[in-house]
Amino acid sequence: NAKENGKNKYSYFDPQLQQIIKEKADLTKCLRDAIENEKMAVYYQLQILIKNNQDKIIGVEALIRWKDKEKGIISPDQFIPLAEETALIIPLGNWIIKEVMKQLKEWENDSIKKDWRISINISYRQFEQENFLEILTSLIEEYKINPSKLRLELTENLLIKDTQNVLRKINHLHKMGITLSIDDFGTGYSSLAYLKQLSINELKIDQSFIRDLVVDPNDSIIVETMLSIGSKFNLEVIAEGVETKEQHSKLSSMGCNLFQGYLFGKPSLPKFL
Ligand code: C2E
Ligand code: MG
Ligand code: MG
Ligand code: MG
Repeated sequence: NAKENGKNKYSYFDPQLQQIIKEKADLTKCLRDAIENEKMAVYYQLQILIKNNQDKIIGVEALIRWKDKEKGIISPDQFIPLAEETALIIPLGNWIIKEVMKQLKEWENDSIKKDWRISINISYRQFEQENFLEILTSLIEEYKINPSKLRLELTENLLIKDTQNVLRKINHLHKMGITLSIDDFGTGYSSLAYLKQLSINELKIDQSFIRDLVVDPNDSIIVETMLSIGSKFNLEVIAEGVETKEQHSKLSSMGCNLFQGYLFGKPSLPKFL
């Protein structure tokens, strides 16, 4: 009965709950080990500008992967939330930034890739760190990176958390020459007020609006609105999760010219780019 269930739910001796706690502890241990022993890899996915039938790769997005001997490649959706909860996102995030710097350094010798920018996903836990800007600055100096080669992807939910702190950091990043993107635009709990307050460069239309774009008129309305907001605020707008030619041509006809998705390339190791 309900009372018994309710009580059971919070009991220390609930075997199911014990099982969940144990699995989480095990996974946390594995994750810590994976970070320490660099069992992580940064994959990259192309971002393309298509205008007047001419296309050009403008950059890539860095996407983390966990390589486990038994489980194979584990996708970030399966461990980033845990990394955020356990603060392991801090060492992991720093490691990713460093890998990206090394990659930019390596591409300096490539006649084509030297012009590419790299976008990095930044979690709130990472961004709110008091020394986040210091770490970033010292790595930029260490690797002698041109800050304009870096773009940080933040989510809307981050922008409403600790507004003063966030505002200060975003202004600082802007002064440093690092550009900013709002990831998963339209899926968060934010208001649009930040568009007038913050120095943002790009909106990323979430793939949930692209998926059924060709068949769902509501998605057309949403995407058109986002493109219009972007153009009025002088922001770049990139569509993510573009998988089909139909989605691409529909987006083109709406005036979108920046794309990312399987149609143009899956996330892959840098040597396959
Ligand atoms: P996101 O930043 O919105 O990244 C886009 C996700 O869509 C990626 O999933 C990418 O592989 C996937 N994707 C790209 N094109 C297509 C497509 O055409 N169709 C479909 N169905 N999916 C596509 P991924 O790599 O599994 O990453 C998931 C999320 O994990 C990311 O969403 C991001 O929020 C987070 N994440 C990934 N790497 C990092 C990282 O280095 N740091 C942090 N903090 N978060 C990360
Ligand atoms: Mg992203
Ligand atoms: Mg996204
Ligand atoms: Mg996402």
